[in-house]
Amino acid sequence: KSDEEAAAKVAAAYADSGGPTIFDKIISKEIPSTIIYEDEKVLAFRDINPQAPVHVLVIPKLRDGLTQLGKAEPRHEDILGHLFYAAKIVAEKEGILDGFRVVINNGPTACQSVYHLHLHVLGGRQLKWPPG
Ligand code: ADP
Repeated sequence: KSDEEAAAKVAAAYADSGGPTIFDKIISKEIPSTIIYEDEKVLAFRDINPQAPVHVLVIPKLRDGLTQLGKAEPRHEDILGHLFYAAKIVAEKEGILDGFRVVINNGPTACQSVYHLHLHVLGGRQLKWPPG
């Protein structure tokens, strides 16, 4: 747990540097991923370290300053809506429309580690509340 917190704090030091993240290489397909859904604006792929039987990340292809949700500006309203609709398409494709969770970890206190906005779509088991 403390390792996770330490990693999140290191990542946060780069958070708004505007530097590349691993997701750039996933978008460009330099790093392979299992793609669940893709269109001109968003990419959805399986999380490499799944926290549930279904764990898919939905990301904007163009980061446009959205290192984290807390950086959202009025110009981002369309892509934010598109990301949420893509999360629903993912849940439908994965057969979990009856019960799923969409999570955004924002900033080091929430253990965000990759500073390119992403929605976690989780399901396929009974989910508990509150989350950790
Ligand atoms: P955390 O790492 O604490 O979950 P985030 O909310 O920033 O924080 O989530 C980043 C997610 O990206 C993690 O769930 C991690 O497993 C996932 N991830 C990192 N590298 C890859 C990769 N190459 N392919 C797929 N998922 C990845």
